[in-house]
Amino acid sequence: MLVIFSSEVGSEGPELKRLIGHLEQYPGIRTQVHTVKGAIRTLTEVYLIGPTDTVSKDAIEQMPGVERVVRISEKYRLIGRHRGQVEAPGFVYNGVRFDQDTLHVFAGLCAVDTREHADRMLRALKQAGQTTTRMGAYKPRTSPYDFQGHGAACLPYVFELAGKYGVKVVAMEVVHEDQIHEIRKALESSGGATGVMLQIGTRNAQNFELLKQAGQQKEFPVLFKRGMGITLEESLNACEYVASEGNRDIVFCLRGVQTHLGDPHRNLVDFAHVPVVKRLTRMPVCVDPSHSVGRRERGADGFYDLQHATAQGVIAGANMVLVDFHPNPAAALCDGPQAMPLEELPAFLEDVRIVREAYEKRRAALS
Ligand code: PEP
Ligand code: MN
Repeated sequence: MLVIFSSEVGSEGPELKRLIGHLEQYPGIRTQVHTVKGAIRTLTEVYLIGPTDTVSKDAIEQMPGVERVVRISEKYRLIGRHRGQVEAPGFVYNGVRFDQDTLHVFAGLCAVDTREHADRMLRALKQAGQTTTRMGAYKPRTSPYDFQGHGAACLPYVFELAGKYGVKVVAMEVVHEDQIHEIRKALESSGGATGVMLQIGTRNAQNFELLKQAGQQKEFPVLFKRGMGITLEESLNACEYVASEGNRDIVFCLRGVQTHLGDPHRNLVDFAHVPVVKRLTRMPVCVDPSHSVGRRERGADGFYDLQHATAQGVIAGANMVLVDFHPNPAAALCDGPQAMPLEELPAFLEDVRIVREAYEKRRAALS
């Protein structure tokens, strides 16, 4: 059960104490208090955990300061969108707002290979007015002989350059909890030049220990990538692991699912699930056309398949696009065949703008 207080009630207010006193008559009920910062207002939510069947919803609804009481299903207790819970508050990180209404493009390097490439990528983003990017330092690779990323060694120049070019959030995959500490240290040494969104890759979608570690810190938001061979429900439960450890700043990323039925694409594009995830949960939803489509080829109409897949995600209301670009795709040490050439960045962004505008017109036409 979830008790939502009206916005005037703070998390230390007497109204909360009164609720907690009231609950003492029900044995076995625990409470968890969350402060939800939305774009317009901040709310205090109290989750009642335990045998809530006997707790009277009506009695709590009559208590001072209570706006709404919601009986929540067992599923996705924290990330879920429960009946009567209308707000999807999202979060602000390093000055950038992420919620189910915003849209950010994270174009960047799948893997940082040289300082020069990172510099060219970040400079192009600044020229294009972008403040978010992707930069891989720790790469989970299928073969142990493939480039594994430069790891902590590249963090100082990545963060320095991101700061220099005004980039505020860098999506960066971590494959081990130690890397969260390495990132924290390098960011500190850079004087807080930028911010990092911790990416949990598809291969770690059910690495529950890593998920718990990402959830136990609240400094960095988490970009969770759907497991490539598990159900949507299993992936959403994985996000619930992060949230249940304390961190609810999570973006859910669709990146295609693995099946030969997706051939000739690398994965089967699953962006029709954008509205599904937005309906079931309150998380912003990202699409990754690069790891879904996996190849840089143009259709008969002149668009890259990658652009069409991006458009499918954006027209369906995606809140973030994670996409591989490279100044010289032929020289990329990871996923070169799916990287868009850097000179295509302005056209790619313009296409996203056009499609987003169409999505917004569709929404306006509904109301
Ligand atoms: C990536 O984004 O670099 C990546 C490895 O993606 P995924 O985990 O979706 O394969
Ligand atoms: Mn990749």
